[in-house]
Amino acid sequence: MKKFHNQGTLWTSIDHIIETPFFVNSELTSLIQIADLYSYSLKRYFENNEDDLLMRIYSRIDRKNGKIVGLRHFTDATCQCIFCKR
Ligand SMILES: [Zn+2]
Repeated sequence: MKKFHNQGTLWTSIDHIIETPFFVNSELTSLIQIADLYSYSLKRYFENNEDDLLMRIYSRIDRKNGKIVGLRHFTDATCQCIFCKR
């Protein structure tokens, strides 16, 4: 985490990450609700091939030079999902 705080990632600086993870009820924090929604939309996309929820937030995923950098799908090279084929 010190390295990330000092140098950031390949794409951006990380100025507001809390080093120690803590657990909180998502009913209490709106940002956790957003993370839950994002995760749920990805689950529905990858497990059920449903893209309705994901497409609602797809344009908000971090990009650099038009390429998505806010999500990486770790799988084999033949994957044709919207994150691997673009
Ligand atoms: Zn993929």
